[in-house]
Amino acid sequence: MIDTKIYNKDNIFAKILRGEIPCSKIYEDEFVLAFKDINPAKKIHVLVIPKGEYISFVDFVESDQEFIKNFFLSVKKVAATLGLEEKGYRLLTNYGVDGGQTVPHFHVHILGGEKISGF
Ligand code: AMP
Repeated sequence: MIDTKIYNKDNIFAKILRGEIPCSKIYEDEFVLAFKDINPAKKIHVLVIPKGEYISFVDFVESDQEFIKNFFLSVKKVAATLGLEEKGYRLLTNYGVDGGQTVPHFHVHILGGEKISGF
């Protein structure tokens, strides 16, 4: 079970952000890093992570409003970079035990490249 209160600086996405572990990078700017999910659930499955110590949606959403806005504008840019704007895509973030979050650094999944039906 992940700690939802104290940021773990040794989580795998923190290591990717520090360049200690490689990733398949799609996009990067001052706010985010986006890379391919190692275990894709759809034809296109990319993770977008903020450059900052955020554990999950719950603490991220309480952070600086300008940063939140820039984060999501960058998510939109990543989707455009992936060529998903016309056909669409799904954004997803997991939280907590029931939500199934496994990596304790806030991230948004971008899923697309195929028709996604149901949940
Ligand atoms: P979540 O279950 O929402 O926390 O999502 C974590 C995601 O990170 C999963 O879809 C994993 O496949 C993915 N993942 C874990 N380790 C890596 C890694 N080293 N590089 C890319 N994706 C990863």
